[in-house]
Amino acid sequence: MNHIRLILALLVGKTLIIISRLLGNQGSSFPGKMALRIYPGILSELAAQVKGKIIVVTGTNGKTTTSNMLASIITETGAALIHNQSGANMLSGITTAFIDKSSITGRKQFDCALLETDEANVPLLLREIDPGLLLITNFFSDQLDRFGELDTIINKIKDAVNNREIDLLLNADDPLTAHFQDLSSASRYYFGFAATSYDSYDSRENREGRHCVICGQELEYRRYHYASLGQFTCLGCGSHNPELDFTGHNLVMNPTIELMVDDLEINSPYQGFYNAYNVLAAAAAARMLDINKQHIQRAIANYQPQAGRMETFHINGIPAVLILVKNPAGLNQSITAVIQDQTYKNLFFALNDNAGDGRDISWIWDADMEIIEEEQNRIKHIVCSGLRSGDMALRVKYAGYPVDRLEIKTDLKEAIEHITQLECEKIYLLSTYSALFECRKILLELQKRTAKTPDRIPARG
Ligand SMILES: [Zn+2]
Repeated sequence: MNHIRLILALLVGKTLIIISRLLGNQGSSFPGKMALRIYPGILSELAAQVKGKIIVVTGTNGKTTTSNMLASIITETGAALIHNQSGANMLSGITTAFIDKSSITGRKQFDCALLETDEANVPLLLREIDPGLLLITNFFSDQLDRFGELDTIINKIKDAVNNREIDLLLNADDPLTAHFQDLSSASRYYFGFAATSYDSYDSRENREGRHCVICGQELEYRRYHYASLGQFTCLGCGSHNPELDFTGHNLVMNPTIELMVDDLEINSPYQGFYNAYNVLAAAAAARMLDINKQHIQRAIANYQPQAGRMETFHINGIPAVLILVKNPAGLNQSITAVIQDQTYKNLFFALNDNAGDGRDISWIWDADMEIIEEEQNRIKHIVCSGLRSGDMALRVKYAGYPVDRLEIKTDLKEAIEHITQLECEKIYLLSTYSALFECRKILLELQKRTAKTPDRIPARG
């Protein structure tokens, strides 16, 4: 009886996937949702067809980039992989990914599954599937008022992995991962950075994890890599960073990333310290899966940034880099990446307050924006756009940036066209979620329109 329901759910799911593709949707959760309604056991049954490891990737920032990089490394080895789309990372979206790759009988086997999911969804997912590896990129609170909520989520993840045969791959530089220290059976492995030349010793950035999770005392940092990630010791109980299993060192950002992960040299076309963490996490996970070094190097070097994750366009021959920002930590990281680039650049902000962005935009005041006014950081013009362009401009003004080089243009198209006409060597566009895809569309159009059509060369003769 269950097998008939499984086949029925697969049929409906596969049909809905075809329809949703025809309608132009890529990562849809709807087919999985319907299939789960027909047969609630479908996800656990299909997941049982994975013969190798199931890997779950979660964390506040970087999970999409990290899991996409890891997917491309695994694919490089030739393994048959199931991997869900970033926009569909709840149970229903993950179920869609399984239905898509499965045969109609549900008996097709797979080498490996790589599942990206939100932190809050991990306990639910672990009830359905049995992962061999759980990678947690970091824990930041999306907004400061969610801090208590984050603590609760971490404890729920901890309960979900306790007493299970599961390897945890954790960020040793994140004090919040100390929550996992007293697990009874799951094995813990740690990645993190040794000292780098980009570290700071006293920063004004917001630091949600600055209190010890064991005793509540304030942590003392020897160095910060970024945000609350760094080398710390608790003055109360002496708790400190765990020993590293995978060490990132010799980091160079010029502006693309070069680093060593233990004895493995890696180059990535990405930029910014937070992406260096993503590279490190993906490489560490790949080493845990026993993937050979050449596959890791090649896949990461060829892995190009995706929409909103430092995707680069060329407008009139000038590079324009689009970056998604959604919280103070992300905004700090993006601005740090921008100023590490020594070119003369224009900066663009698109701030919306639609449901997908979070209605409360007060988080822009928690970001460390003051560095944008410093002359040596070479920011020539700033244009603020989006539904809350005025609020963003106010934030920029209070950061001390000269108002004669600051403009407000609420309409995205007009604003982007304007900033591409202001003189500079590079443009950085920072956008919240609901403005991102429109920004991307406008940039693609501009890129097409301004692409130089080469002068016709007379035929050889
Ligand atoms: Zn302590």
